[in-house]
Amino acid sequence: MPLIDSFNRTIDYLRVSVTDRCNFRCIYCMPEEGAAIAPKKDLLTYEEIVRVVRVAADCGVTKVRITGGEPLVRKDIVELISQIGSIDGIRDLSMTTNGFLLDQVAEKLAQGGLHRINISLDTLRPERFAPIARRGELASVLAGIDAARAAGLTPIKLNVVAMRGVNDDEVLDFCRLTLNEDVDVRFIELMPISWSTGDDSMRDFYALSGKSDSSRVSTLTLYPNRTEASFNRLMDTGGVMATDRMLDASAMRKLFISASEMRQGIEREFGPMQAAEVVTNGPAKSFRIDGAIGTVGFISQISSDICANCNRLRLTADGHLRPCLMADGEVDLRGPLRSGATDRDIADLFDLTVLHKPFEHRLEDGHAPRSRHMSQLGG
Ligand code: SAM
Ligand code: SF4
Repeated sequence: MPLIDSFNRTIDYLRVSVTDRCNFRCIYCMPEEGAAIAPKKDLLTYEEIVRVVRVAADCGVTKVRITGGEPLVRKDIVELISQIGSIDGIRDLSMTTNGFLLDQVAEKLAQGGLHRINISLDTLRPERFAPIARRGELASVLAGIDAARAAGLTPIKLNVVAMRGVNDDEVLDFCRLTLNEDVDVRFIELMPISWSTGDDSMRDFYALSGKSDSSRVSTLTLYPNRTEASFNRLMDTGGVMATDRMLDASAMRKLFISASEMRQGIEREFGPMQAAEVVTNGPAKSFRIDGAIGTVGFISQISSDICANCNRLRLTADGHLRPCLMADGEVDLRGPLRSGATDRDIADLFDLTVLHKPFEHRLEDGHAPRSRHMSQLGG
């Protein structure tokens, strides 16, 4: 029986976080010293993950994306990919990675059954890489992208979190990549996940990048569907004392750029873009610059209503099934998995989770997700 939620949406996509650990500390995702991580014993084993995905496939899930934390830091990830790849019914197996270790494993992942890959990359400038990711370097990620292409992990999608005064001056450079390369660049709107009220991360950024604080713009371009009051409520997700040096709610207000503002800037430079069909696009809306090989997409989960078509569930690394990225409710699978639950029991828990899938996020009403960092949710 397919999984159908209370709003008649068919749920056929599972995002599987295989670890909450990461080798980066992106300023919008994790504190500098790392987010709290689950004890190893609380992480699902590969056998448990494979079992859950098999049950999900029996329930009609056909698409699986492996994510994290950083999925490539988990040991024997290639083995997990090949086991999931051989589950009947999984027709689309993909991964989201920061790309840092990809160079070493791209070929093996492709051989193991991975179909395609999304690589997160927020800058094309070597000197700006560490200020944003606070670990790693650009050259390794670029090598990872080349290796993924050589291994046939296509279409390659680059996920860019665009931030005003941080990397918005690179939006056009990212778009230029699409002119001659078969790459789908997707700009993701900054999301308010687990913001704290400390602003140290941004101080790090300005200090390390040599940019002046005055490049921060305090006015917001509001998008058409939302009023200023609702936008302020949307962004005002802090309220907890800062303990973990991430972007805070006020920093986010200043950094947020809507997809429509980015699109306007891109079309001013390159002329009107045509809508483009990208297979397996999910919530991104994609366009093509005239004559370009690749595409430019926008994931505008904040500025527009993309929830209506949501088809996904998330499995956290510590074994909880989550119906919505932007809402804290979860169903525990790990407990039942470790205390003799049958596959039918697990399938029932999928049904239960799907029944509780909200129609849309309610950030504007102050219902921001606070229980986990993005690295613990898988993005
Ligand atoms: N470590 C992998 C990576 O970075 O691709 C996979 C996990 S990461 C949490 C998944 C995606 O979430 C990345 O593309 C990242 O840029 C995005 N992300 C993390 N925090 C975000 C935030 N606050 N707003 C928007 N996107 C975010
Ligand atoms: Fe960056 Fe991904 Fe790691 Fe978060 S999980 S810090 S987005 S690399």
